[in-house]
Amino acid sequence: MFPLLAILFVLGAVTGSFLNVVIYRLPRKLSLVAPGSQCPRCEQPVKWYDNIPLLSYALLRGQCRHCGQGITMRYPTVELLTAVLWALAGAEFGMTWALLPALLFVSSLVAIFYIDLDHYIIPNVIVLPVAVIGLVANVAISLAGDESAASWQPWYAYLAAGLMSATFFFVVALLKPGGMGMGDVKLAGMMGFFLGKAVLTGLFLGFLFGAVTGVALMATGIKGPKSRIPFGPFLAIGAVIALFFGNDLLDLWTGLFQQ
Ligand SMILES: [Zn+2]
Repeated sequence: MFPLLAILFVLGAVTGSFLNVVIYRLPRKLSLVAPGSQCPRCEQPVKWYDNIPLLSYALLRGQCRHCGQGITMRYPTVELLTAVLWALAGAEFGMTWALLPALLFVSSLVAIFYIDLDHYIIPNVIVLPVAVIGLVANVAISLAGDESAASWQPWYAYLAAGLMSATFFFVVALLKPGGMGMGDVKLAGMMGFFLGKAVLTGLFLGFLFGAVTGVALMATGIKGPKSRIPFGPFLAIGAVIALFFGNDLLDLWTGLFQQ
């Protein structure tokens, strides 16, 4: 197990480094490949040895090698977050086919979390293809999988969870314009395609975290009652928790009502 987790941690950090590029450039409609990374102040290109995920930030003590410009904590944070999520996915799913959609799911959620936080958008080029891949992968894994395994769900559970989540959010968006956006509708659908019935846990936690944070931001005066708070980041947090604990929490909750 340990070698797998270590490999996933390193690959996750590398993926996080790429997600930093996606998070910064995609909403600004910049190319993801060219030009290479450069310092925003002195515009010196970042050499490969100064672009090693996590390590370079620590070795450079968070400063540009040429001009000393501070490098935002965002970069190592995204790299570390993605590395930890990849290792957790390895611990949860092991060397199974289900590991692959899980890695795609957590990576896209990291990108969606930060892009929605910064720009109040959830880009179609992320959420739509990832949703389709998630549905196809989980249907295939379900059909080929062992029905007696604890985590197994029938293939139509993924399809139904995605369609019902998206429909629910679509209705909410229609009833309360200006709150929920179409990006949230698509994200909810994507979550259903990956989580199956565990999407209930993810959506519930998303609403819970969103409500608690909204109240806290207003109570402390950081945000007014009319200011916008993106909902995608809360859904993304709920989705990650649901991926790792969703079925357990669902069993726990349904158990409470059956006693
Ligand atoms: Zn510089």
